This record gives sequence, structure tokens and C-alpha cells, in this order.
Amino acid sequence: MEKESERLLKLLSNIVDTKLEINRELSLLTTMGLSSVGNSVEVYTVEALKKLLPILSQNKIPYRVIGRGANTLLPKFCTELIIVIKFQFNEASVDFTKESFSLPASLLLAKAVSMAANYKLKDWDKVAGIPATLGGAVVTNAGTSRGEISELLLSVTVIDTAGVQKKIMVEEGMFSYRNSTILKQGEGEVIIEVEFKNVGMDDTVSDKINKYLEERKSSQPLDKKTCGCVFKNYEGGVTCRAGKYIDIMGMKGFKTKNLAISLKHANFVEHTGGASLDDFLMLNIFVKDELRQHFGITFENEVII
Ligand SMILES: Cc1cc2nc3c(=O)[nH]c(=O)nc-3n(C[C@H](O)[C@H](O)[C@H](O)COP(=O)(O)OP(=O)(O)OC[C@H]3O[C@@H](n4cnc5c(N)ncnc54)[C@H](O)[C@@H]3O)c2cc1C
Repeated sequence: MEKESERLLKLLSNIVDTKLEINRELSLLTTMGLSSVGNSVEVYTVEALKKLLPILSQNKIPYRVIGRGANTLLPKFCTELIIVIKFQFNEASVDFTKESFSLPASLLLAKAVSMAANYKLKDWDKVAGIPATLGGAVVTNAGTSRGEISELLLSVTVIDTAGVQKKIMVEEGMFSYRNSTILKQGEGEVIIEVEFKNVGMDDTVSDKINKYLEERKSSQPLDKKTCGCVFKNYEGGVTCRAGKYIDIMGMKGFKTKNLAISLKHANFVEHTGGASLDDFLMLNIFVKDELRQHFGITFENEVII
């Protein structure tokens, strides 16, 4: 671990517009906040990312991008370098009235929703209330019961491991429930920009967003450390909602190692501090097995481990 840190310092310290941190606490980078230590690099410009990725690739340094960290759990000792992009954003430079507009991948989805609401842009209520950056929201095809982010997308711009910038147009079949194949697995591309289509105007979009946010507040433990829904709902002809099935089993409130199945929403696990990924996995496997034994359904994890 120490040798790897020294290697990183040697290779990456001189890249301008980046900040490398060695053996740091990583729990703050995820909404679940499980205990985790490792190395991270913040990247402030596209040019810096174009320099960073080829160095990582040529030196076979494994890495992972984290956005808001709302769908990510990290191990106690993280061996991947965590990349956090933090690009400058100037709202005044975007024309929301055009047929399409682009936003940086590091922008928080909440900020994008609020700007879209100001311009009364239709359908943005569908992704309101989801903690995410735009990059993370695209990769996970973030959505609610009202719709998914993919419905608003035109293209994404990425930097590949050679440091080359590419635009990928959205095509049919690239997105499914909480999943996308817009980035090829294992290719190491990083999304830098997301292009949205303007699907029209809706005078009621702000009201819809406010109503929906209120509903979420009353049905989800938004004041606790969580990773959102742990399991995907099961789509097998009819939708089986994981939370409902966990609730039927009477597991709400079940606690182990500073982790508890939320009383407010059974598909959420609340973390009170100090738990590790291993603790989470123990609970996760236990609940998954119980679900299989009770209902004969294998629920897949929604959270990325
Ligand atoms: C309280 C709460 C409520 C939630 N409710 C919902 C909900 O209603 N609907 C829903 O869909 N989800 C929900 N989630 C889960 C989460 O918010 C979404 O999955 C969200 O889209 C994750 O975005 P992120 O930026 O946090 O991604 P991260 O967790 O940081 O990353 C997710 C994936 O995207 C990749 N990634 C991130 N940025 C980039 C980039 N720039 N380039 C390449 N890859 C990238 C990461 O490597 C990782 O594989 C909820 C989570 C919480 C904590």
C-alpha cells in the first residue's frame, strides 16, 4: 500500500489542476459513509483529466470515478484510485431555451433540476430528488416511478484512457432499469459532459417537483446515511417491490453492526457510523437469502459494490 502511494505521488503530483490525497478517509465521498481508506484525486479541468487517464492506463493503476457517491459503497481498504471530477460551471453560459443544452458531468442533478424548473422545462420532475451528479445519474440511469434520466438525454462526451475526447450519441437499447451500457464496461472512460434535449415547456413543473420532494421526504429516510434502495425491484411480468417484500417479512428495524433496515422504507439501510463494507455485505446477503426463501425471488443489488 505504501509503495503504491509513493508511486502515485511520483506519477501524479505534477499534473496541474488536480489534487492528490494519499491514505485519506474516503467515507465522506459516499452518502452511506462506510469506513474506507484509500487514495483519491480531484480533477478540476478537462485538460487535467486528459493528462491523468493515460498515465493511469499506461501504469496499470486501477481507478474508479465517484460522483455524489449515492450509489457506491467502498471497501475498508480501497485499492482503486478514486477520481472525483469537479469542473467549473457558469450557469450564464448555458442557453436552456435551445433545442439542446450541455452541462458538466460533475454538476449535481439537484442543481440541474432547479435550473430546469426555473426555465419551466418539461419532464425534469421525473428525476427530482435523486442525489447524484449528472455523470453518475447517466451511468445508473437514475429515475423515479415517473421516468428516467435517459428520456432527456441526447449524448455524453467522454475522455478515454488515451486522453481522447469522444462524443457518444444516445441510441435505443442503451438504457434499462437503473442501468446503462453507454460506457463500455472496463474501458475506463470518464463522462465529462452530458447533453440534454429540450422536450418542451411545462408551467406546472415546479409544482410537480415540490410535491414530489415532499412525498419523498415523508417516505424515505433522507436525514440518514444511506445508499438509497439497496435492491432493484424485480421485474418478472409484474413488478415486485423489494421494500414491500422486506416489510412483509417483518424486517423493518432489524439492526446489526451500526446498520439498520429503515423503519421508514424497508429497501433502505441506515448507517449510524463505523460500519464497513463487510458488515453491510453480511446484512445484504442475509436479507437476500431471506427474500429468496420466503418468496422464491432473487432480488439483485441496485447499489454498486
Ligand atoms: C437517499 C437516496 C435516495 C435515492 N433515490 C434514488 C431514486 O429515486 N432513483 C434512483 O435511480 N436512484 C436513487 N438513489 C441512488 C443514487 O442516487 C443514484 O444511483 C444516482 O444516480 C447515483 O449518482 P452518483 O453521482 O451518486 O453516482 P456514484 O454513486 O458516484 O457512481 C455511480 C456509478 O457511476 C459511475 N460514475 C459516476 N460519475 C461518472 C463519470 N463522470 N464518468 C464515468 N462514470 C461515472 C461510478 O463509477 C459508478 O459506477 C438514491 C440514493 C440515496 C442515497
